[in-house]
Amino acid sequence: MQLPSSLLENAVNEFAKLPGIGKKTALRLVLHLLKQDTDAVQHFGDSITKMRKEIKFCQRCCNIADADICSICANSMRKQDIICVVENIRDVIAIESTQQYNGTYHVLGGVISPLDGIGPDQLTIETLVNRIQKEHTQEVVFALNPNIQGDTTIYYIQKKLQSFPVKVTTIARGISFGGELEYADEMTLARSLQNRLPVESYVAGR
Ligand SMILES: [Zn+2]
Repeated sequence: MQLPSSLLENAVNEFAKLPGIGKKTALRLVLHLLKQDTDAVQHFGDSITKMRKEIKFCQRCCNIADADICSICANSMRKQDIICVVENIRDVIAIESTQQYNGTYHVLGGVISPLDGIGPDQLTIETLVNRIQKEHTQEVVFALNPNIQGDTTIYYIQKKLQSFPVKVTTIARGISFGGELEYADEMTLARSLQNRLPVESYVAGR
């Protein structure tokens, strides 16, 4: 794609680095910004820079936060002794939009995947285990995607929790999940949260 300005080209290249954005779409977005007044574009750029610079991760659950502790952990109306373990922040958003879950979360930052070079140490598993021990958590609900990496992660963490008096469950599996958790429709996700199963029966049943 030949562009008449290197400034334009730089901007298009930056947009094209975003997931799902090809060069054509990038050009359309950049040309749209070019039509806005300078202040609006300044605000657009500033909000991204500010978000990246200032966003925090909750010290307790590793969710995104504006303060040291996220709004979910800080909410005394939520059941603080239940932890739903998810892979990433998109899963927190997906489960929150079902409005069927009133506990807290723990964001692992991924799942164990030796082929991708991701081992337990790269995830927030130790933080989770320490947290469960310290807070005398009543229940841990795994809401990981139903694939080999998700299963391996559940198995690994469950082993670490065996000596703790905590109920360990997983959201119901095998229902048409449509693949990724974040794409599951809200009804399916809400139902699988309600019908959660003890992890022992899930792991033993494989
Ligand atoms: Zn939190």
